[in-house]
Amino acid sequence: MSNIAILCSGGDVSGMNPAIKHFVEYAKAKGLKPFLVYDGFEGLIDNKIVAATYKDVSGIINRGGTTIGSARSKRFMEASYRQKAKDNLDALAIDKLVVLGGDGSFRGLAKFYEEHGVAFAGVPSTIDNDIVGTDYCLGVDTALNIIRTSLDAIRDTASSFRRAFVVETMGRDCGYLALVSGLTSGAELCLIPEIPYDLCGYEQKFKKELAQGRRYFLAVVSEGIEQSSEEIATWFEERIGVESRVSVLGHIQRGGNPSSRDRLMAYRFVQFAMEGLLKGEKEKIVCYSNSQFNYKSITDVANREHHIEPALMALVQSTALHC
Ligand code: ATP
Repeated sequence: MSNIAILCSGGDVSGMNPAIKHFVEYAKAKGLKPFLVYDGFEGLIDNKIVAATYKDVSGIINRGGTTIGSARSKRFMEASYRQKAKDNLDALAIDKLVVLGGDGSFRGLAKFYEEHGVAFAGVPSTIDNDIVGTDYCLGVDTALNIIRTSLDAIRDTASSFRRAFVVETMGRDCGYLALVSGLTSGAELCLIPEIPYDLCGYEQKFKKELAQGRRYFLAVVSEGIEQSSEEIATWFEERIGVESRVSVLGHIQRGGNPSSRDRLMAYRFVQFAMEGLLKGEKEKIVCYSNSQFNYKSITDVANREHHIEPALMALVQSTALHC
């Protein structure tokens, strides 16, 4: 019987729990012995590696976050601690890893494979949706649903009080969450790092709309844009003449019950990852592109600049205003 382990690394996302559940059930169905590694690479080093039972994964499919914990690990960057991790895996005869994480985690795994030959399959998991080579990362749909619910609620209060609301979404340098949320919530203004903007064009339009009876504005801005959300709010007050408020959604975007899509994608990502490992794939990232799953190498995924799909960008660009 072959032994296989799963761990979560980097930021947690909704969808990790369904992934862990399917990992255990699929492993058992295939005659593999599944192990859970608690607290990411830290747990590998500290030997928090436990044989999984059905009980570990019952009642978790609907829960956000990860029941086995996630972590960032400075120690895993050092060869001596990676050796410790390898010794712990050897003691349990584990030679395959499924890892739910971001490209940083995959770089760590590639190094671990290079040094110690432990096969891995990485499942892209980040709400930022900024991993090169995959159109979808686990957790994105749940985050989008949370943002949508928040924006719908904020719109209610914005319209009642005749205000502008500037809502800031996560995403680091990637504007995907803001872009999709801006479009699907009908925001009057959507600013993302990838598209240079010019507020002057919006000033004319918004003033005209106010004069014609508009009561509120909803602006969705990504955390990575040039100006702060407060500066955009000040612009609304000073240039448009409407009271404004900032709402930073923050970590609520990372939590919440996984959406149906994330539960299904978790199952599909994990199944593809495990099938690959069973077929002899050694160091692969499971990607989802053009509605198909495929395996990519670490060099196809890490250390490369991510770009949002051009057709999606064009949707926002088509309504952008300039002076
Ligand atoms: P997120 O998208 O949430 O940031 P991530 O996987 O990109 O997820 P990182 O913090 O970049 O998150 O990486 C997670 C962990 O991967 C690090 O804490 C470290 O333990 C390991 N890691 C990253 N790069 C390397 C590397 N070059 N060598 C060894 N380990 C690494």
